[in-house]
Amino acid sequence: PPTIGVLALQGDVPEHLSALEAAGARAVRVRRHAELGAVDGLVLPGGESTTMRTLLSAFDLLDGLRDLVRAGLPVYGSCAGMVLLADRVVGADDAIVGGMDVTVRRNAFGRQVDSFEEDLDAPWLGGDGAPLRAVYIRAPWVEEAGEDVEVLTRVRSGPAAGRIVAARQGALLATAFHPEIGGDARVHRAFVGMVRAHA
Ligand code: GLN
Repeated sequence: PPTIGVLALQGDVPEHLSALEAAGARAVRVRRHAELGAVDGLVLPGGESTTMRTLLSAFDLLDGLRDLVRAGLPVYGSCAGMVLLADRVVGADDAIVGGMDVTVRRNAFGRQVDSFEEDLDAPWLGGDGAPLRAVYIRAPWVEEAGEDVEVLTRVRSGPAAGRIVAARQGALLATAFHPEIGGDARVHRAFVGMVRAHA
């Protein structure tokens, strides 16, 4: 099976490790530069993107990660991970890692709405078409997506209806929600498929 790393500086790392194993990958924690070079794909978990930026610099991983993304390493970013992958973040001067041609708004669902859940149609995941439970926790959304970005899913209900919350560009996948919470491994399976296709 492919070896997929989970950036393990901060955030909901164990949930992603389990979801990746359930999806047929060998999942490993990544904290060091050498570990970054030994994976076939990488997950950037949810957490706090500003803290992750600080830790990526402190652990000397930021440049290596940027280089790998530019070299085409498959990367899946969830929530804070989506913020890391965005080329533009509303209110920020520059990207953290970048690579995906999107503008992302952090904490976009509003301060009053710490978290929000809904069922999404997920034709992009194939299979039996069962709805996907989307859990948004102080989640970002994609405010603008470039031409080469494939929009996968939009918010279905509530005041944020229509906002883009899952997208793909080449080997990069991003979701504003947390599929690793709730035991549905389909998004991770789709990512493992991207890693296999790339290998
Ligand atoms: N609000 C966080 C950020 O912008 C993301 C929250 C999450 O990952 N659950 O970094």
